[in-house]
Amino acid sequence: MGVTAICGINWGDEGKGRMVDYFAENADFVIRFQGGNNAGHTVCNNFGKFALHLLPSGIFNKKAMNIIGNGAVVNPEALIGEIRETEKVIGKIDNLMISERAHAVFPFHILLDEYEEERLGANKFGSTKKGIAPVYSDKYMKTGILAGDLLNKDYLSKRIKNNLELKNQIIEKIYLKPKVDVDEMIEWGYKYGCELKEYITDPIPVLREAVKNDKKILLEGQLGALRDIDFGIYPYTTSSSPIPGYASAGSSIPPYEIKRIVGVMKSYSTCVGEGPFVTEIFSEKADSIRTKGKEFGASTGRPRRIGWFDAVSSRYGCLISGATEIAITLLDVLSGEDELKICVKYRIGDSSTEKFPTTEKLYASKPEYISMPGWKEDITGIRNFYDLPKAAQNYIIKIEELIKVKIRYISVGPNREQLIKV
Ligand code: GDP
Ligand code: MG
Repeated sequence: MGVTAICGINWGDEGKGRMVDYFAENADFVIRFQGGNNAGHTVCNNFGKFALHLLPSGIFNKKAMNIIGNGAVVNPEALIGEIRETEKVIGKIDNLMISERAHAVFPFHILLDEYEEERLGANKFGSTKKGIAPVYSDKYMKTGILAGDLLNKDYLSKRIKNNLELKNQIIEKIYLKPKVDVDEMIEWGYKYGCELKEYITDPIPVLREAVKNDKKILLEGQLGALRDIDFGIYPYTTSSSPIPGYASAGSSIPPYEIKRIVGVMKSYSTCVGEGPFVTEIFSEKADSIRTKGKEFGASTGRPRRIGWFDAVSSRYGCLISGATEIAITLLDVLSGEDELKICVKYRIGDSSTEKFPTTEKLYASKPEYISMPGWKEDITGIRNFYDLPKAAQNYIIKIEELIKVKIRYISVGPNREQLIKV
């Protein structure tokens, strides 16, 4: 089977957690390769319902080793909280590794995230305020603190002092807020480092062996392609790269080993936070889909913005992800809609395009829709494509035709078994 990457095709919240949980039943390794606890991956399985933020979605399979890769960023306090909460249900977690090279998120990263959103005011990004942009900024400024650094108090002290020398100037003089206490941060980092000691390690040797022995490895992306720092709707992106192209760098798996790329997309569109969203709908229709789909952020509880399926952005998401197959989710939510719209082109001024443009042009883009008939039936119990109402089959076939990638899985409910394999 080799290595499979499972990544979001749109703006995130496509149901990746749900799909990773499904694939993880037979996996040997599950690796989160980027992002932090700004993710909310919902998993509903035999153990119950979980919103995972940092733990890879394979944590419920005791036989699978779950790895938080070097490309991810870890808030140690938040991770310990998540481990303890999850352990209450599944027992002691001993199938977890945290790469010693993953960056640690400190309370001052969170403060900086908050202060910056406050400074931006009306121009804010809609940050989840988990310190993600500040910690990735530190990574590239080379002032960051690695998970492995938390275990060596002397070295940790040097790194924190070096980092806060500049940060405290910014906090005091630009944001006009009180300085961060250096010693407190050293104690904080060391305390949580010690608590996570059993998990912080170098996963590279284990992964090399795993690849050599053709173990089943899943790479779990967070968010979606349209939030990618390079290819997404910059600057309304995340601060890392959730596409499979980065999965190698963020995990140490050689790129040529990634043979299968499952793109996860929703059967309609949702988007959390700010930024252009061409197919957005506002009416009661949006409220009805939001309620049926329980479209409130798994991490933040924020109501998600709702839109019709966007074939222009989804095709682009597939393209830059290199998706070899698609899992389409939440089809059941569309039951009961009389009419379903699909955006097939964007109109910018006098011309139409099938190409997904940069943010500046996205603001000027208007959706060109085709209309498809809806269906009334409850489809949550269906497990065979040909048992779906004809209108639902046609909707899927039309989407497949437009995105030009084979749809292999159709999810008709949040539970592990509510899946149609095509
Ligand atoms: P992720 O961030 O991509 O893992 O997705 P989230 O967990 O943030 O959001 C997906 C939401 O949809 C969660 O509440 C899931 O339980 C739910 N979900 C996933 N697949 C389906 C589905 O096919 N039908 C329904 N009704 N809900 C689903
Ligand atoms: Mg989510």
